[in-house]
Amino acid sequence: MRITSVRDGVVPIASAIANAFIDFSKMTASVVAVTVADGAGRQATGYGFNSNGRYAQPGLLQERFIPRLLEAPEAALAHPDGGLEPGGAWAAMMRNEKPGGHGDRSVAVGVLDMALWDAAAKLKDVPLWRLLADRYRGGAADDTAWVYAAGGYYYPGKDVAALVAEMQGYLDRGYSVVKMKIGGAPGTALRDALKEDVQRIEAVLKLLGGDGQRLCVDANGRFGLHAALAYGAALAPYNLRWYEEPLDPLDYATHATLAEHYTPPLATGENLFSMQDARNLIRHGGLRPDRDILQFDPALAYGLVEYLRTLQMLEAHGWSPRRCVPHGGHQFALNIAVGLGLGGNESYPEVFAPFGGFADAMPVQDSRIRMPDLPGIGFEGKADLWAVLRGL
Ligand code: MG
Repeated sequence: MRITSVRDGVVPIASAIANAFIDFSKMTASVVAVTVADGAGRQATGYGFNSNGRYAQPGLLQERFIPRLLEAPEAALAHPDGGLEPGGAWAAMMRNEKPGGHGDRSVAVGVLDMALWDAAAKLKDVPLWRLLADRYRGGAADDTAWVYAAGGYYYPGKDVAALVAEMQGYLDRGYSVVKMKIGGAPGTALRDALKEDVQRIEAVLKLLGGDGQRLCVDANGRFGLHAALAYGAALAPYNLRWYEEPLDPLDYATHATLAEHYTPPLATGENLFSMQDARNLIRHGGLRPDRDILQFDPALAYGLVEYLRTLQMLEAHGWSPRRCVPHGGHQFALNIAVGLGLGGNESYPEVFAPFGGFADAMPVQDSRIRMPDLPGIGFEGKADLWAVLRGL
């Protein structure tokens, strides 16, 4: 098993949106193509990109991780089932890296890891979800994945009617659960921002028949404890599906305090980039394995090799993989959800083009989606994304 070539590029993520913390109009993504030959006449090219929320990593890729990947020993790349073992490639890429400081490099490694898993499944001529179910779950894969539509961003001039119209669009596309941003009203005092958000939430809830289980809200790590508690007190009566990233993602003790005061589900984890960071959240964040949601994004956090370690860590701490609903809305995490039995996956039906969204021919029905039978991750079944990746 040998890596024969790695190509990389930088592309824009076309989006005029903003959440409570950043605007996305200048955001970029790295894309890579990794070609692998199995030594027995088969070869496959896998593709990877970084999930939204972090920028392209061309320097790290070209200076450290691509050269090391190209030098990975052939024996380390061989899986006992005759296929490619991305874990061996991961170890080669991480040679001479110190522990800690994961955000320095977890995105760059994750881009290459995604491509390696795409190639591994293509070498076996199976979808990635099937490869994962066979290797790690005794062959059992879920029939469908639960997905929810993440939107409700702030745009210049967007009012409550426009927000409700956007959410109606997601319902029309087959989603029954939606998510909206909160805490992003620019330059407003907490009392006024909360009042405005309550109006936005009530308008969307009205569209959803008043059912709080069909609505999630996301503060993108903007609040301190005082604001998080004030919002929590206002949100609790709605019994929302979850209250996402109220606090700084690395402030575990404050999460524990919030969880003592806010009874319905909390969700967080999209900005934690290693098993060790995830473990600190589980140890110290006061989260509750019977209800809270973990959103670690494998594409931002060293890829699936690391995500498998995170799932093992969760199991050791009494957490089911069903509590995991990854951030990012990409096909990689969707394959992982179906193949490894996660709770579902985020979806961005109308933003983060061309990386958000799933295969073109797979409709969402009642917030569930079936996987296509394409070899690999399935990028070739998503025309706008494939047009970008093919360019490599
Ligand atoms: Mg979020």
